Amino acid sequence: MRRLRNVKIVATLGPASETYDMIRALHEAGADVFRLNMSHGSHEEIREKHRIIRQIEKELSSPIAILADLQGPKLRVGVFANEVEELVDGAAFRLDLNEAAGDVTRVCLPHPEIFAALEPGSTLLVNDGKIRLRVEDCGADFANCVVVNGGTISNRKGVNVPDVVLPLAALSEKDRDDLEFVCGLGVDWLALSFVQRPEDVHEARELAQGRAAILSKIEKPAAVEAFDDILEVSDGIMVARGDLGVELPVSHVPPIQKRLVRKCRFAAKPVIVATQMLESMIESPMPTRAEVSDVSNAIYEGADAIMLSAESAAGHFPIEAVGTMNAVAEEVESDPTYRQIIEASRSAPRSSVADAIVAAAREVAETTEVQAICSFTESGTTALKIARERPRVPIIAMTSLRGTARRLALSWGTNCVMTDELNRFKGAVVAAARAATSHGYAGPEDQIVVTAGLPFNVPGTTNILRVTSCDERLIYNTETE
Ligand code: PGA
Ligand code: MN
Repeated sequence: MRRLRNVKIVATLGPASETYDMIRALHEAGADVFRLNMSHGSHEEIREKHRIIRQIEKELSSPIAILADLQGPKLRVGVFANEVEELVDGAAFRLDLNEAAGDVTRVCLPHPEIFAALEPGSTLLVNDGKIRLRVEDCGADFANCVVVNGGTISNRKGVNVPDVVLPLAALSEKDRDDLEFVCGLGVDWLALSFVQRPEDVHEARELAQGRAAILSKIEKPAAVEAFDDILEVSDGIMVARGDLGVELPVSHVPPIQKRLVRKCRFAAKPVIVATQMLESMIESPMPTRAEVSDVSNAIYEGADAIMLSAESAAGHFPIEAVGTMNAVAEEVESDPTYRQIIEASRSAPRSSVADAIVAAAREVAETTEVQAICSFTESGTTALKIARERPRVPIIAMTSLRGTARRLALSWGTNCVMTDELNRFKGAVVAAARAATSHGYAGPEDQIVVTAGLPFNVPGTTNILRVTSCDERLIYNTETE
C-alpha cells in the first residue's frame, strides 16, 4: 500500500477493531503495523486477529508488521472486602503478603521480591500514579506506608515502584507462555514491557530464537539510565510515555523522548513514540490542538513510528484516529522546515563501506533528479542505514525474505517489495526498475539509484551503487552481466 509519508503508524487492535472490515479499513487509512496487546484477550482472540491481518496482507500484497506486546512484570495489589476504598492524605496504609481481603488500613501486595527491595523513604505509586505512598518502615513481608497523595484504590490496581531496580524477572510465566504462543503464530516484533537492564533483552532473545525482532519499551527510570546499553542489544525501541510519565514526573518525558529518538536514529534502529497521542479521540471524532501538535512534534523529531493505543483498540473513532495521524504526517513532511530539521540532525559519516554507499545514494538523490533509492537488503540492515539518512526520495527495500519486509514496515520511509533470490546484477537492476515503475515511484523515463551487494545473498556486503534508467530496453543495452 503506497503511502505519501515516511513516518509509520502503529495501531493497537482491541474490541473496537477486531473484525476483518475494521482491520482492513485501518490499514487502508494508514496503519502500517498492528499491535496485539498480550495484557488483554485470550490466545484464541489473538490468533483470530493474526489470521485476519495475514489475510489482508495477502490480498493487498503489501507487507504488514505484527507487533506482539508482552505484559511484563506488571505489579498489582490484591482485592478489598468492599472492592474500593478511599485513602486520605496523611493516613497510614500497610502493604503485606496476607492474602485476606484489604480495607482502608491495609491490602495484600503479592510480590515478596518488592518487599525485599524496598527501603524506608521509597515511593510506591498506585492506580496510574494517582495515589502516592511513602514507605516508613518495612520488612520481608510488609511495608508500613504513609499516604502522601490520597485517592481511590480498588481491586487489582497497578503498582509502580519508580526509584528501585526491581529484582524481578523480565518475563513472567504468562509472558513466556505468550511469547511461545505468538512466536508459534509468527509475529515480526516482540515488545518487552518494563525492561530494566540489557539482560532482560538477552533473556527474551534467547527464547525468541530469531523468530521475531525485539523491541524494548522504555517505561522505567532504570531503563532511561541504562538506555545506551539497552539500545545496543535491542532491534527497536518504544518511548512508552504512559508508564514513563507515572514513574517519572511528566515534565521529564518530553526531553527523554527527544534524546531517545535521536539516539535510535544514530543507531539506525526504529523508534516508536507511544501513548496518549490522540487520547481525546477515544470519545471524539476531532483531536485537540495539543494532540495534533504532539503528533507533529514526534514527526519533526524524526521518530520512525507513531502509535495509537486505546484510540484504535477501544475508542469510538479508530479509523478517524489513524486518518488524523496520516493527515498530520503528510502535512508535516511537506513542510520545508521539516526537511531542514531532519537534515540538520543527520549524524556524521561512518566508516563502513555500506555506510559510505548509502550516504552516497542519498547525496545522488539530493543533487540529481533520481526518483527513488532502491536497496537490495536481506537482513534489512542496508535499508535501515538508508532510512537513517532520511533521503528526500522514496526508499524501496527489495528483499526475498518476507520476515525482513514485514519487520521493515516499522521503519521510517521504507517501502518493501518482495523479489526473487537474485544472482545477476542485471536481473537486480531490472527488478528494481520494475518495482519503482509498477508501484508508482518512477516513470519509464526516470532514473533511480540502486544499491546492492555482490556476491548476492551474503548479508552485510552492500558495495555497489548504480544510477539507472527505469527503461528496461536501456538497461538491457547498458548492463553487462
Ligand atoms: P502499555 O505501554 O500501553 O502497554 O502500558 C505503553 C506505555 O506505557 O506508554
Ligand atoms: Mn506501559
